[in-house]
Amino acid sequence: MEWLICPPTWRPSIWKEVGRVSLMDKTLTCRDCSAEFLFTGGEQEFFQSKGLLHEPGRCPSCRADYKRERGLSSDRPVREYHDTVCADCGHPARVPFVPRNDRPVYCSSCYDKVRAASV
Ligand SMILES: [Zn+2]
Ligand SMILES: [Zn+2]
Repeated sequence: MEWLICPPTWRPSIWKEVGRVSLMDKTLTCRDCSAEFLFTGGEQEFFQSKGLLHEPGRCPSCRADYKRERGLSSDRPVREYHDTVCADCGHPARVPFVPRNDRPVYCSSCYDKVRAASV
């Protein structure tokens, strides 16, 4: 009596193909914004080396958004505040940009006034 041994089927056939053929760039569609994006050969190798058998479902920008939402992104821009003096009332002001000499900087209350006046 002979036993039939089934080949392991846990591997999606796509990876077997990829193993034979050199990794080619693929165009995938983002499941969030439905934009097409490239899943490059290098990325596919990276995925395989991590043992990941699925393809990325999101384009790079949606993936970045996804990470940012969960606070996983380390490259979050740090907002730097600069101390300066209000050009209108002379009070100390703190602004989220580097003050330049050719542009007057206002404290938040004077800024509102200036903006209201210029509209
Ligand atoms: Zn997307
Ligand atoms: Zn002011």
